[in-house]
Amino acid sequence: MSATNLRINLGRIRENYQMFVDATKRGPSSSSEVAAVVKADAYGLGVGPVAETLCKVGCETYFVAHGFEGQALRSFAPQAKIYVFHGALPGEEVLFLENRLVPVVHSFSTLERWRSFAKQSGYCDVALQVDTGMNRLGFQSQEFRLLCGDEHFLDGLDIHLIMSHLACGDEIENIKNKQQLDLFNELMTNRPPWLSDVPLSLANSAGTLLGSDYHFDLCRVGIGLYGGNPFSGQANPCSPVVTVETPILQISEIESGESVSYGGCWVARHPSRIATVGVGYADGYLRATGYKENGYKESGYKESGCEGAVAIDGQLAPIVGRVTMDLIMIDVTELPTDVVQVGSLVEMMGETVLIDQVADHAQTIGYEILTSLGHRYKRDYLA
Ligand SMILES: *Cc1c(COP(=O)(O)O)cnc(C)c1O
Repeated sequence: MSATNLRINLGRIRENYQMFVDATKRGPSSSSEVAAVVKADAYGLGVGPVAETLCKVGCETYFVAHGFEGQALRSFAPQAKIYVFHGALPGEEVLFLENRLVPVVHSFSTLERWRSFAKQSGYCDVALQVDTGMNRLGFQSQEFRLLCGDEHFLDGLDIHLIMSHLACGDEIENIKNKQQLDLFNELMTNRPPWLSDVPLSLANSAGTLLGSDYHFDLCRVGIGLYGGNPFSGQANPCSPVVTVETPILQISEIESGESVSYGGCWVARHPSRIATVGVGYADGYLRATGYKENGYKESGYKESGCEGAVAIDGQLAPIVGRVTMDLIMIDVTELPTDVVQVGSLVEMMGETVLIDQVADHAQTIGYEILTSLGHRYKRDYLA
């Protein structure tokens, strides 16, 4: 019997990267660069193979969240430009210097610390983040105006990028996108001469697809590369990258009235065939999937709105009962017995069951499914 397999299609990552490159070529400003966001081990898919793949198709710039992620990335991408969203924490300065990581700076105090490090070490690369409405990280717009008022704040520093981040890019119609765009444009138009040549960046995956107004000099693309849908409530323009397949470990025939899994929440309403597979919430198949607090005992999964499903031989079958740490049960009563045997492969996510559907069933987003995949899989890379 084959083991549980997490297959990552690197060709699809290349296709998705190219799709974003093409998107930045539409419209008047044709010089935008597409950078890859590979934080959190490339959204759980493995930063090494992902970065090597993207380097080969000409992706030159990468973003990670932490200094140590930049350090790991460096060995796979020796020539790349690597930005670190969180900046350099106190004590990490030498790590940044040794690995040529560019910290994204968000405050006057970190700017000052980096200025003095630059003075003593000669390593002066830095990027700036300005907050245009996300209220997460970055100089507030008033602070940024102050920063622009005095050249000495940036003494001895080489500013490589000024970036901001969209809060609602996944919602095409959300007016906040335009508001952030307008504020970013206003702040950048009024930049002082010593910042006027610095490249600008606003868009993530969704922002890149919002149109050329959002492109500026560089787009920071993450989820779309990995096949997740950058948009909520819209068709996914990106191709699936990840497939999780696992064999059926056991098939049980149960009587009407018998329950399945912890808590006995799901009760068979007719004689049923239940297949058990060896993945669970420790493998990123979240416990919220297919489990609703109320309703199962009374009404069964269909009426209670549970749609958590897997695919066997291209046919959907519902998940029943609670997801457990290492095991999940599937109602295969409706499927032909010849395709449902002990050892038959079950697609937990992939081409038939999209990661965003898996996410919907767990009331979350594709990002969380990918970054939760966990360490028990053997990751196979399709070139
Ligand atoms: C994660 C992140 C991105 C990438 O966003 P996606 O939606 O995955 O494309 C871009 N910019 C910042 C600041 C981020 O934190």
